[in-house]
Amino acid sequence: MTDACAENGLRSVEAAKQMLIDSINPITQSETIPLEQACGRVLAEPVLAALDLPPCDNSAMDGYALGGDHDSYTLIGKSLAGHPFYGTIEPGQAIRITTGAAVPKGTDRVQMQENCTVDGNQLSMSRPASPGENIRRRGEDVHTGQSLVPVGSKIKVPHIALLAAAGVEEVTVIRPLKAALLSIGDELKPIGTPPSELGDGDIYDSNRIALKAALNQLDIEILDLDCWPDQPDKIREAFILARDSADFVITSGGVSVGEADFTKTVLQELGEIGFWKLAIKPGKPFAFGRLPKTEGETLFFGLPGNPVSAIVTLYQLVIPALEKLRGTADEYRQPPLQTRARLLNAICKKPGRTDFQRGFTYRDADGIQVVETRGIQGSHILSGFAQANCFVVLPREGGDCETGDWVTVEPFSAPLK
Ligand code: AMP
Ligand code: MG
Repeated sequence: MTDACAENGLRSVEAAKQMLIDSINPITQSETIPLEQACGRVLAEPVLAALDLPPCDNSAMDGYALGGDHDSYTLIGKSLAGHPFYGTIEPGQAIRITTGAAVPKGTDRVQMQENCTVDGNQLSMSRPASPGENIRRRGEDVHTGQSLVPVGSKIKVPHIALLAAAGVEEVTVIRPLKAALLSIGDELKPIGTPPSELGDGDIYDSNRIALKAALNQLDIEILDLDCWPDQPDKIREAFILARDSADFVITSGGVSVGEADFTKTVLQELGEIGFWKLAIKPGKPFAFGRLPKTEGETLFFGLPGNPVSAIVTLYQLVIPALEKLRGTADEYRQPPLQTRARLLNAICKKPGRTDFQRGFTYRDADGIQVVETRGIQGSHILSGFAQANCFVVLPREGGDCETGDWVTVEPFSAPLK
């Protein structure tokens, strides 16, 4: 089957994604920004810990820090978070201590207060505390000089928490990518045009708005170049404008082989372009290439016009490529998480292309992960997509599926979620 598809010239989704990733050189320009603005950005320079974490031995509990192993203790003071006890605790002595407060010299254990009884300055306990109990050791999380976050990491909330705990105020990250975004098609009208003013066969330019929303979520700077007619001269003008102002261009429409599809012709004039027919449904026609310019080049991604195809190819192919372009290291560029779910409805599928059907997955009352497809599975059907929370990924060589079959689902993640 695979051979038959190869003969048909269809490139598998996996091969296309790998080729994109392999052929893209990451940008290296960076900028230093406040830590609190760094979520979602890619770390460009190492950050080394300037101190141990925790910075000192401290208590994990509200309770009593004990001097040695005794039946009862004499209370001699207290250590509160931010207000340490500076003395030394002798055997048989104890102090009151709160969570996070420094553990003073002379003690190696903290008894939680629920196990303690206090009578005047005498402390007794319902059970003994063992050595080390309830003490968080200096440096057990991070050692001074240690790398806190590897270069190439996409900074997430836990990274921010770690860096802030280490007192880091600014980080150096890869500069934002710049995208030029445009639509191509004589039938496209801007949203806001009253329906009564749409000509026969006109539709709203929905792709540009949806793609813009997606790129916005990825911290990409967007030059919105609007919508262009199916005219080679105009398309050339748009591509030159896009090339000169961005790291990459995303277009939708005009990429197939119809009479009014000029993308290919214009791109062949301006640069080096691969037109791919992908073994993916939806989204067969896809263009990738490079537009050389005075300094460097601009990458080109030509998405199919059908709205579901445009979003699916953006998600499955373009975003992994952009992660590579913005320097996300291999180990932080994971393929989408997939899991298995039991089908609640039958699915029709012809062998030959990997199908990304739109579905809704959830855990049923018996705790079983189930999935049902949503809406007619056409590349122009947005209502089903809008109800979905996952792709049902049907392998290229597979055919129809029955109710009750176990299938692969790929829960949506950013920017679909
Ligand atoms: P094309 O790729 O130009 O052959 O277009 C395929 C289908 O997608 C056609 O039905 C177009 O009307 C539709 N289409 C193209 N561009 C857009 C767009 N920007 N927004 C919504 N639909 C589009
Ligand atoms: Mg068109």
